Formats: sequence, C-alpha cells, structure tokens
Amino acid sequence: YEKELKRLSNLDLIGQMAAGISHEIRNPMTTVRGFLQLIRKEEEFDNDNDYIDIMIEELDRANSIITEFLSMGNTRTSDLQMLDLNAIIHDITPLIEVDASNQNKLIQFDTQDIPKLLLNRNEIRQLLVNLYRNGLEAMYEGKVLSINTYKEDEKCVILSVRDQGEGIRPEVLEKLGTPFFTTKENGTGLGLGICYAIAARHNAKIEIQTGSEGTTFLVKFKI
Ligand code: ADP
Ligand code: MG
Repeated sequence: YEKELKRLSNLDLIGQMAAGISHEIRNPMTTVRGFLQLIRKEEEFDNDNDYIDIMIEELDRANSIITEFLSMGNTRTSDLQMLDLNAIIHDITPLIEVDASNQNKLIQFDTQDIPKLLLNRNEIRQLLVNLYRNGLEAMYEGKVLSINTYKEDEKCVILSVRDQGEGIRPEVLEKLGTPFFTTKENGTGLGLGICYAIAARHNAKIEIQTGSEGTTFLVKFKI
C-alpha cells in the first residue's frame, strides 16, 4: 500500500515536471517562430519561403502537441458536479458555429430534455471540442454535423456527435485512441485519447458507429 502511494506521488512529480518542461520548451520555440516570420518578410530569402513555411508549420504542430498534453495533465484530478449537459453544449455553441462556417459546413443541434449528470465542465467541453472538430474535419463542404443529447432509457443519457464524412476504415478504427496516432497531415493524434480518458473519469462509455454515410461518436453517461 505504501509502495503504491509512493508510486502515485512519483507519478505526480513526473507529471508536474513534464508540465514545467513543456512550458520551458515553448518559450524558445516562440522565439524561433518569431525570427522565422521576420526572415520570411525579407525579400532576399524569397526563394526559400516554402522551407520557412514548413518550419513554422512544424513548430505549430509541436506547440499543439504540448497544448493537448498539458490539457491532459490539468484534468487529472477531476471533480464532478451535478450539471446540465445541454447548458455546457449551449455555452460553446458560438465557437462550434464559427468553426463550422469558416469551413463552409453546417451544424444541427437537437438537445432533448435530460436529467442533470455528474460532470466536470471543463472536461466535457474539451471532449465536445475534440469530437466536433474531428467531425468537421471528416466532412466535405456543405455537409452537416449533428450534435444531439437524449435519454436512451432510465439509466442512460447519450451525447452523440454525428458527421457526414466518409467513415473510418477498419485499420484506422483499430488504432483509435492510441496516443499520437493520426491520419492527418497536421494532426496531433491526441484528441481521441483525451476523450477516452475524460469518458473513463465520468464513468461513461464511448461507442463508435461508422459507415460510408459517416461516423457517430456516442458518449453514454450513466444516470
Ligand atoms: P487528430 O484529429 O489530431 O488526427 P484524433 O485523436 O482526434 O487526432 O483522431 C485520430 C484519428 O482518428 C484521425 O486522424 C482520423 O483518422 C480518425 N478520426 C477521428 N474522428 C473521425 C471522424 N469523425 N471521421 C473519420 N475519422 C476520424
Ligand atoms: Mg482530432
């Protein structure tokens, strides 16, 4: 038992160090990015602009990996409160709508009457953001993303995020949630892993239905 406690506090320490190191790595990266932008503006370097763009993109990718990693650390001790899931969705609706319209995609909401649930607001927000972004990224312009909540039965509330993308191939499906697994050029491969961790802390399950008409992520909360 004592060993276990010691192991846990060591883990804590490692987590704190990792968070500290992440911040420290970010500062020099920001400096390098700034100078790269300056170089890009100078005419004599015009020919190399492609390389500089790639360097900036790669820095941004490294930066978003750190952001997602830090968000994972922050939410390790999750305190849960009786909250209205629909209200959390409502809060970030403007963000979702801006993202969708920037990509020329449509959003549909159908939030039904559901009981309050034991939730951590920030974590549920993060879960929702990760799922809706994946949904938008999976679709062509003009397609519709649906975000719904409903009571499945007396014991279960469902949050569903349904896209009209091309579906997920079996070999990709197998690897979902594996840290850093991505099929996107600028992906981090951390989004779904974070969703699974958040669902687990809420005692919720994530189910995936996928086919040629699109993909639905169902988050099933126990009432
Ligand atoms: P990222 O979005 O950075 O690639 P994620 O962990 O969010 O990382 O997703 C991992 C992979 O899962 C994606 O690269 C994509 O191949 C697949 N994926 C996730 N959501 C969907 C979706 N709604 N439709 C199709 N593929 C998806
Ligand atoms: Mg993602």
